[in-house]
Amino acid sequence: MNVRLTGKTAVVTGASRGIGAAIAQRLAAEGADLVITYAGNDAASTRTVAAIEAIGRRARAIKADAADGAAVRAAIEQASDFLGGIDILVHNAGITEMEVAPAASEDSYRRQFGINVDGVFIGTTAAIPLMRDNGRILIVGSVNAHTMPFTGGAIYGATKAAVAGLARGWARDLGPRNILVNVIQPGPIDTDLNPADERDAAIAMTKLTVLGRYGRVDEIAALAAFLASEEASYITGAAIDIDGGFSI
Ligand code: NDP
Repeated sequence: MNVRLTGKTAVVTGASRGIGAAIAQRLAAEGADLVITYAGNDAASTRTVAAIEAIGRRARAIKADAADGAAVRAAIEQASDFLGGIDILVHNAGITEMEVAPAASEDSYRRQFGINVDGVFIGTTAAIPLMRDNGRILIVGSVNAHTMPFTGGAIYGATKAAVAGLARGWARDLGPRNILVNVIQPGPIDTDLNPADERDAAIAMTKLTVLGRYGRVDEIAALAAFLASEEASYITGAAIDIDGGFSI
């Protein structure tokens, strides 16, 4: 295991379970202290904090709904106080609701944009003044930003395209401070949100990959740790697919 983040601090949103929990634990294993946020699963957030502390890093969990601007701003401020400033911000919190047009409701549109986009915008805006130069902002987007091989994903795909657009603009804005901004775009990854089980959708997604399988959360975490490290010093404004060939 590389140890590339010694002395760094990181905030990972939506990190009680799934991809976010794996990213948080990997960043900690590489030397970073962590604040994680979550929506409501106290038990899962406690488990992730315990796993990070077991690695020997400091960690705190803050309950903060990504769609609640005041909660997001407060979480970023509390995180910075706890960590003594922020080097790495990972926006991972996200939901998906598959609804085929025209049945897809305005409520679903607002829910998905509220968590997947508003949370990213408000959290980044709050964090930038608290971030040290040479920092990293990573957004967990999706290959559905640019590929949609099934019905019902219009809103979700639009949220992930929106954050890729934000990332490109922020990469320009923050380049003078050497804060690098990139998007990780996973294909199907085995989590509670998208389990690799016997559902028709899961079987169909598996078949669309070149590798014939779902991805694992540790595979996403490895990319996040690389992008957070000095090794990725010339990558900014990129949206990187990590999808086992799902989208080719
Ligand atoms: P999970 O549903 O497994 O985990 C979601 C995590 O986000 C949990 O920690 C959850 O907290 C938290 N969360 C959910 N809603 C909110 C909210 N409103 N505010 C704050 N935190 C919240 O999801 P995944 O790990 O699968 O997905 C993580 C990200 O990866 C998402 O952005 C998703 O769109 C993206 N992605 C996932 C893919 C997949 O196939 N799994 C593919 C492509 C992209 P709590 O435990 O408290 O509920």
